[in-house]
Amino acid sequence: MPCVMVHYSEIGLKGKNQPLFLRRLEGNIRKATAGAGVRWIEARSGRLVLHLGDAADWGVIRERLQWVFGIANYSLALRVGLDLGALKAGVLAALKPLTFQSFKVSTRRAYKQFPMNSEEVNRELGAAILEDRLARVDLERPELTVHVEVLPRDIYYSVQREPGPGGLPVGVSGRVVALLSGGIDSPVAASRLLKRGCLVTFVHFHSVPYLDGASRDKAADLARLLSRYQYESRLFQVPFGEIQREVVAGAPPPLRIVLYRRLMGRIAAGIAGQVQAKALVTGESLGQVASQTLDNLAVIEEAMSLPILRPLIGCDKEEIVQEARRLGTYEISIRPDQDCCRFFVPRHPATFSSLEEVRAAEANLAVARLVQMGLDQAEAQTFTYPEAGGGET
Ligand code: ATP
Ligand code: MG
Repeated sequence: MPCVMVHYSEIGLKGKNQPLFLRRLEGNIRKATAGAGVRWIEARSGRLVLHLGDAADWGVIRERLQWVFGIANYSLALRVGLDLGALKAGVLAALKPLTFQSFKVSTRRAYKQFPMNSEEVNRELGAAILEDRLARVDLERPELTVHVEVLPRDIYYSVQREPGPGGLPVGVSGRVVALLSGGIDSPVAASRLLKRGCLVTFVHFHSVPYLDGASRDKAADLARLLSRYQYESRLFQVPFGEIQREVVAGAPPPLRIVLYRRLMGRIAAGIAGQVQAKALVTGESLGQVASQTLDNLAVIEEAMSLPILRPLIGCDKEEIVQEARRLGTYEISIRPDQDCCRFFVPRHPATFSSLEEVRAAEANLAVARLVQMGLDQAEAQTFTYPEAGGGET
């Protein structure tokens, strides 16, 4: 019966964090592979072995594990006793259906009492393959690598290995709130935090009924897609049009965007308090648009009571686009919508705003009431994974 051999990234494995890291990774793998036939998970010599039931579906498991952060690589593996003859027979049989011109054997020996070292296993097994197949050994760029792992009690082998996404298991780093706009950048920013082990709660501001609901639907689709990394995503949809109207009525046009952003930040921080998040995340990158100059970022940040994480601050748009394509969010993000920040926005927003003028403008607004209004009117949606289509509550 095959099993799945999972190697995790060594990073984050220092000292006290190790048990937490492993427990999370194991739990996340269990959630990711729900219903796909994993019977139990065993920690063995710095690896995780997923034992499969008769009806296990490797295609589904392979697809789902590619989104489990913390995994360095994984493979469908077979097991024999501590016996070189059995290993040779097993590997030759596993290679039978495969075509390849070149190969190498890569052995790791966690069980040091095994009488042969890794090099010797490589050579012996390599010789057996050379005898059986018309292929050559290529240590630099082999077409196929046979991985062998000698553990106490048994030897595992696999002939195909999938790269994992790396990073830290989601959940080991605490929770953040991501401001999700429906654009290209913010989902990429959120995914960077997921990769570093954060759980992410999403917040989207929309201007329904002043604008149509397209951005709201995009934010929902993005949150649903990103739930494949954390198994459950909560998205708070905050009606922002009424708040914008009050800003428009009470503040000079060039300052509107910065004022909107400060209000969004305060509302997001209020939500962070409700869900015990420790920081906010945005998709800002320096200089991309008027609101993202260093001056404006500083003024926006001043209103925030929590750290603002901006993982894309030093990225070019093209890099972000490529990452969005790999992530699968790009196709959702480019759907046309009416972004609430371009609503009631002057043609020439200020690229520089001083804290004094912004504070003076806010003195004319009922900031606390507007923030409370946003919090009161927020509607939460929940998306779960895996689940056909994603559930909504
Ligand atoms: P994005 O591609 O993420 O929309 P952008 O390049 O359009 O970013 P801005 O519109 O200046 O840049 O937005 C900067 C950041 O502010 C966004 O990445 C997002 O984190 C947050 N943000 C902007 N608009 C909204 C919104 N309507 N709801 C939630 N967050 C928003
Ligand atoms: Mg945007």
